[in-house]
Amino acid sequence: MSSTQTTIQLIQQPDNSLLGETHVAFLKNLGGPSWITIEGKDRTRRRVVVTLLHGNEPSGLHAVHRLLKEGVQPETDLGILVAAADAALYEPILSHRYIPGEQDLNRCFRSPYTTNQGELAAKILDIIHDFNPEGLIDTHNTSSHSEAFSIAAHKTIENAGLASLFTDSLIILDQNLGTLLEKLDSSIPAITVEFGGFMDPNADWLARESLHRFAVSHLLTSPNVNTINYLTHPLRLETQRHLTVTYSSSIDANADLTIINTIDQLNFRRIEPGTALGWFKEKQHRNLVAPDRFGNDQYESYFDQNDGLLCASRPMTIFMATTDPVVANTDCLLYFTPEV
Ligand SMILES: [Zn+2]
Repeated sequence: MSSTQTTIQLIQQPDNSLLGETHVAFLKNLGGPSWITIEGKDRTRRRVVVTLLHGNEPSGLHAVHRLLKEGVQPETDLGILVAAADAALYEPILSHRYIPGEQDLNRCFRSPYTTNQGELAAKILDIIHDFNPEGLIDTHNTSSHSEAFSIAAHKTIENAGLASLFTDSLIILDQNLGTLLEKLDSSIPAITVEFGGFMDPNADWLARESLHRFAVSHLLTSPNVNTINYLTHPLRLETQRHLTVTYSSSIDANADLTIINTIDQLNFRRIEPGTALGWFKEKQHRNLVAPDRFGNDQYESYFDQNDGLLCASRPMTIFMATTDPVVANTDCLLYFTPEV
């Protein structure tokens, strides 16, 4: 398969021959974008689990495959979307965020919906809208080591209640990136859950346990809402043009920018002004930006470059710091929330 298919196949109550023995066999049997529905105890309500918006983030697929194999009957009707199945099937399997040469599907939920990924995104929005769920979970893995966390587009008590079924931290992401979450009706509780690194067995375990809870619990609210740790108005540190970015413990003379290869250990840690994050090859390099939610560049307010050393200049919490140079260039290096 070399490009994203724009049709979504509809499957009701999948049988064992479709499920196969493993989530990889299941994915191969599906062969493309799929919408699977399972009957719940209460046929008047519906919930949704979205998997594989990114083809190399399999914890959600792994978890729903287990639920389906175990024949768990959900509390409500359940819709399961296997989204970027073509990217996930692009060999080597489960190794591509999106198909080389195509766009990131989870940045295509905005007009114009003209590419294959845009067409697929529009159909995904239609199918979710018609299903009219009472709650939606969009499952992801981080590209580097991280504790699990949730993301919502709106700071509501319902989103906090939903997030607390999964994680302790909830990020309110109010930037216009073209993600699925941004386009859903704000009255539907909906969160993205980043279960942890894509090769982390703990991420698979958390996805299994928490999605099982999501599927079978009578109510979607949790009594632990007050304990949720909010991170609001995050900014992104991005490359302004394509840089050669590498990750190392010492400067790489061939790279425009060397980021310290243990930066993911700082995820969800408060860092002090002066904390070093990497080195530029050119001392006067000026190729990073930090757009805020209004699109204004705040780089110089939060970062210093002295003698080529890239440092934080204000106290901040960073998260989603990647150690993947492709993600660094095509998406962002990290997110951060400055201390007020
Ligand atoms: Zn993702």
